[in-house]
Amino acid sequence: MLGGMDDGEVDVRVALLGEPLPVELMNTIHVDERGHDTFDLVGDVDSAARWVDAIGPRLPATTGRGPGEARGARDAGGGGAAAALDEQDARRLRALRDALRALAAEVTDAPPQFAVARVPSRREALDTVNRLSGRARIWPELDWPDGGEPTATVGTGSGACDYVLSSLARQAAELFAGPDRRQLRTCLAPGCDRYFVKDHPRREWCTKACGNRARVARHYRRHRGGAARPAHDAAG
Ligand SMILES: [Zn+2]
Repeated sequence: MLGGMDDGEVDVRVALLGEPLPVELMNTIHVDERGHDTFDLVGDVDSAARWVDAIGPRLPATTGRGPGEARGARDAGGGGAAAALDEQDARRLRALRDALRALAAEVTDAPPQFAVARVPSRREALDTVNRLSGRARIWPELDWPDGGEPTATVGTGSGACDYVLSSLARQAAELFAGPDRRQLRTCLAPGCDRYFVKDHPRREWCTKACGNRARVARHYRRHRGGAARPAHDAAG
């Protein structure tokens, strides 16, 4: 699935920016500058499965896969989730995304173009995060083979999709309750509606491409005196 791209498939690896996973999820939707085309990276089952497949390696590895299944088999985080993901899971993923964007918009005082989905109320958003956080039973496990090095893994008695949804929601709760909340930013480059965590005092943009586009727009304004009309083609 991560190999070559078929017609119409979006390479989600390109869309992942190395942000904390809840922020990556926030950034799965984009509205073009004129506001007509919504581009949703988790808009249907296939695309949601590709996204889950791409972020899986960044989730904690799990041991055990529910009652009756052999324990001890070690799984990359979210292993099997992409294959098992169904319409309901995709809907839950989008509901979590919309909830996180609503909370992020409040934290960052986001401009209107960031409201790209049906905006849930604060109460609805919190309910969604907490409900999904509780979808999976997850516990820490110590894995220590004879003569080997001990490692910490995650035990779960739940299915792979619930594990992924629950992990994303838990990480979101930690992000909003922790120091990253104050570093959450909207990228204000022309045509961008992504969030990022400001991990460097001088960082202003979600990507280098956005920084370049913003500089071009600034240059254009200064030298033409008119409204900036930067090309959005170079988005990266
Ligand atoms: Zn940007």
